[in-house]
Parts: sequence; structure tokens; C-alpha cells
Amino acid sequence: MNKKLTVLGATGSIGVSTLDVVARHPDRFEVVALTGNSRVDVLYEQCLQHRPRYAVVGFDQDVAGLTARLRAAGVQTEVLAGPQALEFVAALPEIDAVMAAIVGAAGLQPTLAAVRAGKQILLANKEVLVMAGALFMAEVKAHGAALLPIDSEHNAVFQSLPANYLGEPAGAGVSHILLTASGGPFRTTPLDRLKTVTPDEACAHPNWSMGRKISVDSATMMNKGLEVIEAHWLFNVAPEQIEVVVHPQSVIHSLVQYVDGSVVAELGNPDMRTPIAHALAWPERIAAGVAPLDLPAIAQLNFEQPDFERFPCLALAFRALRAGGNAAAVLNAANEVAVAAFLDGCLPFLGIAEVISATMDVIPVEDMPDLAAILAVDAQARSVATEQVARWRK
Ligand code: NAD
Ligand code: MG
Repeated sequence: MNKKLTVLGATGSIGVSTLDVVARHPDRFEVVALTGNSRVDVLYEQCLQHRPRYAVVGFDQDVAGLTARLRAAGVQTEVLAGPQALEFVAALPEIDAVMAAIVGAAGLQPTLAAVRAGKQILLANKEVLVMAGALFMAEVKAHGAALLPIDSEHNAVFQSLPANYLGEPAGAGVSHILLTASGGPFRTTPLDRLKTVTPDEACAHPNWSMGRKISVDSATMMNKGLEVIEAHWLFNVAPEQIEVVVHPQSVIHSLVQYVDGSVVAELGNPDMRTPIAHALAWPERIAAGVAPLDLPAIAQLNFEQPDFERFPCLALAFRALRAGGNAAAVLNAANEVAVAAFLDGCLPFLGIAEVISATMDVIPVEDMPDLAAILAVDAQARSVATEQVARWRK
């Protein structure tokens, strides 16, 4: 029987890679719904190829135009718009799994809708766990939803843990989770140059091709910080059990260290189609279109300690994780505001960490009991961070 899918964020980097893998296996997968935000042309082409029952756009004004183009091409996809439509297609009774690949906080409520409908969740949207990890994991448990990590590091950890891992690191003999980081495009850039680096330079990642927000996060290493928090929630490990190791080749995607001294890792070429295919077919394996790893051609694998002075965002993420409560939601919201301002040319690169740190200083750490509290602190942090960005512009 075909596995029926909704792809949230189909028009983005992860969404496109997902549909690439899906198209290689028409006998296995069926696309029921696709969503995009503003890239309506990409969504149109995807609808022609995959013929989903539903397509969701970000804005009402795009519904009529996309519908007309699809009908003219003989495609009957129903076009919907807005946040409620995202939640609707994430929880359709006929689907088995949801690829959660919207970027940022916008993905929270549709992904939660999929969880509450008990779907299998292929989770790329790491910001969801950063802002709402406790609530999200409690809902996963309550609704029997299955969670498969797409982020390459967490997918590697998942593959390196015992198959029957039940979220109890001590019971499984897990001592540490070692998350690898490429160090991004500025690993060796002279510190003085970081003052003037441009958005295009920040988005020129040495190993991975990704959306612009996560590319900037990789340049600040906030991406690794968000992933530390993501690992905490996914695998139930304490902050002290998570280490970051810089590995510029991005061949080892992450490792699990056991109490007996064993270290288990997953290796491969840096191509997101590998973790996507792994999660789509799990527990089976399918071809992903990824070239086999050529170890003699790679020749060397290097490792370094992360430089917390060069990458203050990484330290801010550990601070948020240790603080608990609302701190990671504040970190995430401030980061989204600061990265958007940097990409718009309104904030220098080094201002990103400053804006986040100042926002965290202003908003006291408090418990975050429910979704309403999460959304409230997210809004508050965005407003404080926006004020902080404005200070930089003066
Ligand atoms: P992207 O910017 O390429 O795509 C984002 C997708 O989200 C697009 O389909 C866009 O239409 C949609 N979107 C954006 N804002 C929206 C909104 N307000 N409402 C509804 N939809 C909206 O991003 P990406 O690189 O594909 O990353 C997606 C997620 O996956 C992020 O959370 C990222 O951290 C994570 N991730 C990405 C990679 C990667 O290699 N690209 C690797 C690991 C994790
Ligand atoms: Mg990653």
C-alpha cells in the first residue's frame, strides 16, 4: 500500500529534496497535499507532477490564479490558503505521514496539528522543538505520533542509537551525543572581516545547499545551538551529555558515545536526500539518488573544538537550554527577527548575537505551561528583538 503524504513547506530546500526522493518511488508514496508560501510558480509545477488532492498557498489572493492555471492544465487539485488550511492538510484522515519542512515558528501549529492527529512526523522544522519542546514531546506521547528526525545530525544519532531506544540514555548505555558541525562559511574568516560580511557571503555554505534562514544560522552556528536543544528533546539527554565537535568535511553526520567506550556514527555525502529517504521508508531502506561515499577521495576527516568566542550564538543556545522554561522560545524568536533583519540589510552580521543576547536579558525566565504561553512569549520576544534591531539602525 502506498504511503500517503502531506509535505508542509514543499517549495523550500527540504520540500524539493523530499519530492525528488518521492518521485524516484512512485510505487511507494502518494502525495496528498503540498504547501508553499509565496513561491506559487514552484508549487504549480509540483502540482503538475504530483497531482495532490490539496495545495496550500500563503495568501488568499493567490488561490484563484493558481486554481485557474491548474484547471487549464487539467489538474483538479483544490487550492486553499492560510494557517488554518495548513493545519487542515497536516491532519487529513487519509494521510499516513507529514513532512514538517516549513521554516521557523510558522511551522509550529501545523506540525502540532499533525501530532494531534497521530500521524508519523518527519521533522525538519527544528524551530518547533526549540520553541515548544516540552509541549511538543508531551503531545507526541499523548497521541501516539511517531517522530522521525530529518535534520542530518539527529537522523544520524537516531541511526546510531539502539533500535529499541526508548528515550532513556542511561538504560541504553548512552554517555554522550556528539553533534558534528561544519563550522559554516566563516570558520576561518579573520574576526575583523565578520563585521562587514554580506548576506550572500553568509549563505554560501561550504558543504550544504539550504534555505537562507538556516544558512545564516549555520554561519553564526546558531543552527548548531538550535540542534543542541533539538537533541535534548528528541533523545531526552541532559545539556551536559551533548557535545559539539567541528568537522569541516560534513561526512560524519553525528555520533553516539556509549559508556563502554564505543562510538557509533553515521557517514555519508552531505545531501539531505539521505536522511529524507531514511525517514520516508523507515524501517526499510530505499535509494535516494545520492552518490556513494568515496572515502579515498575524501582522504581526511578533521575535528576541532567549537570556538565559542567566534560563535557567541552557540553559547547563547546552551544558556537557553540550561535556563529552561521560556528561554529557548525567546532565543528562537529573537534569532528569527535578527536573521531576517540581517538578510534585509538592516543589521550587521555581528549584531545577530547582540540582538538575541539583549532580548534574553530583557525577558525573565518563566515557565511555559501551554500553547498560549508559548505564542505570547514568542510575540513578546519578537517585539523586544525588533526594538533591539532598531537601536542598531540609529
Ligand atoms: P526554505 O526557506 O528553503 O523553505 C521553507 C519552506 O517553508 C518553503 O516551502 C516556504 O514556502 C515555507 N514557509 C516559509 N514561511 C512560511 C509561512 N509563514 N507560512 C507557511 N509556509 C512558510 O527552508 P529549508 O532550508 O527547506 O528549511 C526548512 C526547515 O528544515 C527549517 O526549519 C530548517 O531549519 C530545517 N532544515 C533544513 C535543512 C536544509 O538542508 N535545508 C537541513 C536540516 C534542517
Ligand atoms: Mg542539521
